Amino acid sequence: MFGFLKRLIKRIFRCAAMSVAVVALLVGDSPQTFVRAEERQASFQVKGSFLRYEGRLVDFDDTSFRILTPDGLTVQFYWIELVDADAARMRASLGLRVTKAGEPDEAAPHPTEAGLKVTRLADKAEWYGKEEAGLSTPETVVIKSRGDRFSFRRAEVQIESLMLGIKDIYSEKELYELMLAGQVPRTAKEHLRVAELCSRYGLAGKAEEHYRFYELLSREDLPEGRLAGYVNKMRESFGDAQVKEQLYLMGVELMDEEYSKALDRLKTIERDFGEEELLNELKEVRKQIDLARQWSINTRIVESWRVILRSLLRTKATDRGARYSDCMEFAVHGVVVETAARVALRVGVEASPVKEIWQSRTSDSVETVDYGRGSWLVEASHLGDVEQWWDRASNAERFNILMGIHAEHNMRVRLKTHKNCPTCGGTGRVKPGGPPPVFPSKDQCTDCSGLGKSRVVIYW
Ligand SMILES: [Zn+2]
Repeated sequence: MFGFLKRLIKRIFRCAAMSVAVVALLVGDSPQTFVRAEERQASFQVKGSFLRYEGRLVDFDDTSFRILTPDGLTVQFYWIELVDADAARMRASLGLRVTKAGEPDEAAPHPTEAGLKVTRLADKAEWYGKEEAGLSTPETVVIKSRGDRFSFRRAEVQIESLMLGIKDIYSEKELYELMLAGQVPRTAKEHLRVAELCSRYGLAGKAEEHYRFYELLSREDLPEGRLAGYVNKMRESFGDAQVKEQLYLMGVELMDEEYSKALDRLKTIERDFGEEELLNELKEVRKQIDLARQWSINTRIVESWRVILRSLLRTKATDRGARYSDCMEFAVHGVVVETAARVALRVGVEASPVKEIWQSRTSDSVETVDYGRGSWLVEASHLGDVEQWWDRASNAERFNILMGIHAEHNMRVRLKTHKNCPTCGGTGRVKPGGPPPVFPSKDQCTDCSGLGKSRVVIYW
């Protein structure tokens, strides 16, 4: 768990405890532990609908809450029905847990720390940063701002205390280290988590790198993925910290396709650590490296293209500031140019033959992408506000949509088809046989926006 996130969550709880007029009351003889929230207005939107609901919050617990509508109806909602940002905002204000353990919360605000705003009296120029208490003196104040130190004479500036986003205080390198919290990501899942965090704090280059490792490690059919996975497993089985460190560095070199560096390191490990079991495992690694090196250049280009393309689309999907229209432009055009350049750099050839080799690929395998809740964006974009929906969709949903759009425009499409929406069974309305809807608009299925189906594309 990341220390600063823990601190942030604690702070949310503290603020909520001070500001919320919540009276802890068990409601009558109800078996549920509802807590009554008096005089609190609730305003929120349910997933997949474009109507906002308003009312007075009657009571709540960890799974659901009830509101009293202006029409005098008491209606119960489950937290998971709400669009993520609204659920996070309301839960935080009520002192409820906001993040799931170990998962980055896309809707959570960025972590902050107590800082200073320093305004120079002469020209009103402003600096933001955290005071370096050990360096400040009665005459001077020293702050750290985006990783750099600035010193001011107190008599020449005006100083205000305020909460700052951690991006304003630390350098990119420090932010990245805070994020890793001393732990080196090894598995595909760990790389994915670090990538999402990097993306949230604006470290786009690092995010893309971890997304690429995630894609590689998820594909054990590729020589690099298999090799890195193998070296990671070795790392688990050898206790010596120095061996672990060397194996980790070798894993990174293998994923970066730096084979001669990895082989040099392998020789060093063989020389310095003579354990028989380790030497046997290293023999296997050497065999795998030879196989990977013999891999033909064309196959390498095609497979690198798939991996890098997906990592670039994932990076775009997690850029929470990007508009839907810009993301579409990127998925159709921009990503092709960028992928060609990256692959060329990795493989060490020119960008234009890379694109030709990719386009002349043959294939024995197909991939499938499901647009899921985002199907309406392509099938019936008149149903609602596209940009608003995009803003609130999860990173995973956004990635599937970008991948689908890219595949439809740039890949060889074998089949475009539909799957019945599992939530409403294809009716587009709330589940048949279920309880009647409270609001007329609520009988539209929240997962498919009334479409009844999701769009599926099979391509290669
Ligand atoms: Zn549905």
